[in-house]
Amino acid sequence: MFSRGCPYKCAFCSSPQLYHQKVRLRPVSSIVKEIKDIIETYNVRQFRIQDDTFTLGYKYVKELTDELKKLNIYYRCSTRVNKVTDEIIKCLYESGCREVGLGIEVVNDDVLKKLRKQITVSQAEKAVEIIRKYPIAVRYFFMIGLPFDSYDTMHNNIDFIETTQADNVVVGNFIPFPGNDMYINRAKYNIKSIKESSCMNIAQHLELRPNILRTDMPEEEHIKIMKIFYDYLIMKKFI
Ligand code: SF4
Repeated sequence: MFSRGCPYKCAFCSSPQLYHQKVRLRPVSSIVKEIKDIIETYNVRQFRIQDDTFTLGYKYVKELTDELKKLNIYYRCSTRVNKVTDEIIKCLYESGCREVGLGIEVVNDDVLKKLRKQITVSQAEKAVEIIRKYPIAVRYFFMIGLPFDSYDTMHNNIDFIETTQADNVVVGNFIPFPGNDMYINRAKYNIKSIKESSCMNIAQHLELRPNILRTDMPEEEHIKIMKIFYDYLIMKKFI
C-alpha cells in the first residue's frame, strides 16, 4: 500500500468511517525499500496496489513513479474517474502500470449523485478515453444489489462495457456496512430493511440476492433486475 484513506464520502463505502476522510501518503523511500526487499527475497516483479486512491495529486504520483521506474516492475492499481489525467496516466504507464481499475459503480448520473460518488458518466467515458491512449488495460468495478437498481441501469452498465470495450469487470453485491450513510439513513436511500446477518459477511458479496429489501419493489423483482447484469457478465466470461 502506498497510502491510506480517501477524502471522498461515497454513501456506500466504509472508507469514510475507517479513515475519517483523511489521507496519509507513505514516504516514497519507504515504498521503494519495501518493493526492493520483496524483489530480493521473493523475486517478485508484479504487484497489485491496493490503495483507495493514491493518484489524488500529481506531485506525489510523479515523485513516486519516478522511483518506481528504476525498479523494473509491473503493477496494477485503481483510481477515481475524476482523477484520471493524461499526465498521471503517463507517469503510471512509464513506471510499469499495466492495468487501472475504475469505480464506475453504476452508469446513471442520478444514481451516482444519490450515492454521493461525485463522478458523472461523462467523466467515466473521458477517463477511459485517456487510459486508452496507453497500452494499459481497464478494469471496471460495478455494484449491483443497490436500492436504485433498475432495468435501465443494468442495460446502461452493459452498454458502457460494450462501447468502451472493458478488459476486465468486477461486480460487487452492495452491502450496507454499519456506520456508512446508507446503513444509518436507510429510509433516504429507498431501503426498507437490511439483512443484518449480511452486513459483516463478505462471503455473501457475490450472491445473486440483495442484502437489503427495498421500499419500492419485492425482492423477487430486484433479483430479476440484478440477474440481467449478472448473466451478461457470465456470458462475457467476466465472472
Ligand atoms: S468508494 Fe472509493 S472514492 Fe468513494 S469513499 Fe470509498 S474509497 Fe473513496
